[in-house]
Amino acid sequence: MHKTREQVGELFRRLHADPGALDSVEAMVGSARRQLRQKFMCADVGISGANFLIADTGAVCTVTNEGNAELTTTPPRVHIVTAGIEKLVPSLAHAMTLLRLLGRSATGAELTQYTTFHCGPRRPGDADGSKAFHIVLVDNGRTRTLADGLAEMLCLRCGACLNCCVVYRQIGGDAYGGAYPGPMGAVLTPVLEGLAESQDLPRACTLNGQCQEVCPVKIPLPTLLRGWRDRAWREGLEPAVSRAGLGAWRFFALRPRLYRLATRLALPMMRLFARQGWIASMPLAGGWTRYRDFPAPARRSFMDQIKRTRR
Ligand code: SF4
Repeated sequence: MHKTREQVGELFRRLHADPGALDSVEAMVGSARRQLRQKFMCADVGISGANFLIADTGAVCTVTNEGNAELTTTPPRVHIVTAGIEKLVPSLAHAMTLLRLLGRSATGAELTQYTTFHCGPRRPGDADGSKAFHIVLVDNGRTRTLADGLAEMLCLRCGACLNCCVVYRQIGGDAYGGAYPGPMGAVLTPVLEGLAESQDLPRACTLNGQCQEVCPVKIPLPTLLRGWRDRAWREGLEPAVSRAGLGAWRFFALRPRLYRLATRLALPMMRLFARQGWIASMPLAGGWTRYRDFPAPARRSFMDQIKRTRR
C-alpha cells in the first residue's frame, strides 16, 4: 500500500515472473494471480487467523474483503487456525453483534465482503473443505495484558481509531515499528515488546480523545495511553533530559507568579534562535530540531494576549 506503481513494478522485475508490462497495474495483478493461485491450489496445509471463535458451536469466523481466507483454507487438506484467546466469544449472537460493529467501523459497510463460518473438517457429502481441522489458541502476552490492568483492550482491529488519529494520519503505519499501528498499536506494542523498547509510542499522542469516541467497543484508549506514560515515569524509563525538564516545569507550574515570570524571560530568549519564524536548532531541544524546525514563539504569551484583548 505504501509503494508507488513504479516501485511495485521494480519489485516484480527483480523477484517475480515477468508480467510483461511493468507500468500496467492490470498486467501485474493478472500475473500475481496466475502465479499465486497455483501455489494456493497445490498447498497441503492452509493456516488462517480468526476474527471470532464461537464457544457454543466451536465455529471459527473469518472476515476479509478479498476472499483470501477462503482461498487459504478451502483447497488444502489441512486447515490450521491460530487465534488469540481474546477472539473467543460466547455464542453466535455475540459474534453477529460484533460482526456488524466491525464492518460499519472499518469501511462503513453493513457486512464485510467475505464472512465465513468454518465449522470443522469436511463432512460426508460436502463439496469442499479440509479433511483435518485444528485450532491453536495463542496467548503470546495476552494473559500478561490482563494482569497489567489492560483487560479493556479487547480490540476488534476495525481500524476506526487509526482513521481519526491525527498522529497516524501524519506519520503512517510503518513509523509505529510493530505489527499494530495507530492508537491501538500504541497501547498493544508495549505489552508485546516491552515498555522499555516502545515507550515512545504512548507519548506520540495528543490525547484529544477522538479514538475513544469512534471505537465501537468503547476502549478507553487515552486512559490506557496515560497509564503507560505513568508507568514509564514510575519505572524511570524516561530519558534524563525529559525527567529534568518535566521536574523544572512542575516546579514553576506550582508557582503561578514564578511561572509567568519565567515565561516572560524564556520567550525572548527562544526568539534569539529564530530565523524567519522558525527555530532550526536550540540548546536542550536537539531531540526535536534534529528532525524538524520548531515554530518561533509569539511576541506575547497567550495570557498576555487575553489580558490585552479584555482591556
Ligand atoms: S481500539 Fe477500537 S477503534 Fe481501534 S481498532 Fe480496536 S476496536 Fe477498532
